[in-house]
Amino acid sequence: LEAKAQGLGVQVWQPAPDTASATDMLLLAELRGAGERGELRLRYQPQCEAATGRLRGLEALVRWQHPRLGLLSPASFVELAERTDTIVDLTDWVLAEAARQCRAWRDQGLDLEVSVNVSTRVLHGGALVPQLRSVLAEHGLPPSALRLEITETTVLRRPERAALVLGQLRELGVAVSVDDFGTGYTSLAMLSELPLDELKLDARFVSGLLTRPADAAIATSVLELAHRLGLVTVAEGVEDEETAEELRRIGYDTLQGYLFAPPLDPAALPLWLRAREAAAASPLP
Ligand code: C2E
Ligand code: MG
Ligand code: MG
Ligand code: MG
Repeated sequence: LEAKAQGLGVQVWQPAPDTASATDMLLLAELRGAGERGELRLRYQPQCEAATGRLRGLEALVRWQHPRLGLLSPASFVELAERTDTIVDLTDWVLAEAARQCRAWRDQGLDLEVSVNVSTRVLHGGALVPQLRSVLAEHGLPPSALRLEITETTVLRRPERAALVLGQLRELGVAVSVDDFGTGYTSLAMLSELPLDELKLDARFVSGLLTRPADAAIATSVLELAHRLGLVTVAEGVEDEETAEELRRIGYDTLQGYLFAPPLDPAALPLWLRAREAAAASPLP
């Protein structure tokens, strides 16, 4: 199969033998070119100011409308893409589409920031900064229109290399958020030395906030740490009002989760905004 795949122009791929299933190989081969075939989609999940509920920005989350398998969530293909340079092509597509959509919203008077998830291979690949520069220029967007989410493990894996790229991003003016924070073991010293803008507390601590004292302790100390370092704090996976209230009390700046909205089709965003304005204008008794 491998030889055949290479004959078809699939890039060389050498995974651990136990993880190289034929199904994975086929899916990966299909994923290459999915963007050009119009099979990729972006959904956008609102990120709201904790104090006011005001929409601050949106996180772009990729989906794959697969011709046979239906709508696939990133769980079924992002990790696979990350094993090869396919993740670079995927991220190219996501950045271009997010910038196009952001431009369209701005043209409608919606001044929104869009966050894009960036994997280790992409952050360290060397093409990210020039690509961001050109995508911003192409759509006439200020650098503040886009924001990157990188996971804690991406920072940890090659800290010197990460520091270099983060410095270039800071210079460019594109903000960087540390995603899924609290799941790795980033040293406080390392965190304070990197040019970062935002910390996103991982959803697991949010879901346990009201029931698990250990999760509440982590949520509180992450907040204190982040604010001392001058970072904006986001809590993700907020599903109920009680949890949102507690996160506000602790001091989180931004909240994201099903309580506010699931990842939305961009066409549904104006409707969602109008419904919220209507609800704010006539609060329940
Ligand atoms: P993430 O960046 O941590 O994104 C948050 C995930 O939590 C999203 O899942 C979102 O739909 C889900 N979520 C949001 N609110 C809630 C909630 O209230 N409760 C619960 N239970 N879940 C919630 P999704 O869209 O399936 O994305 C999963 C992961 O896939 C993302 O985690 C991110 O790591 C990765 N991913 C998504 N899009 C991209 C992309 O364009 N590029 C890269 N490299 N990775 C991506
Ligand atoms: Mg994210
Ligand atoms: Mg996350
Ligand atoms: Mg995640």
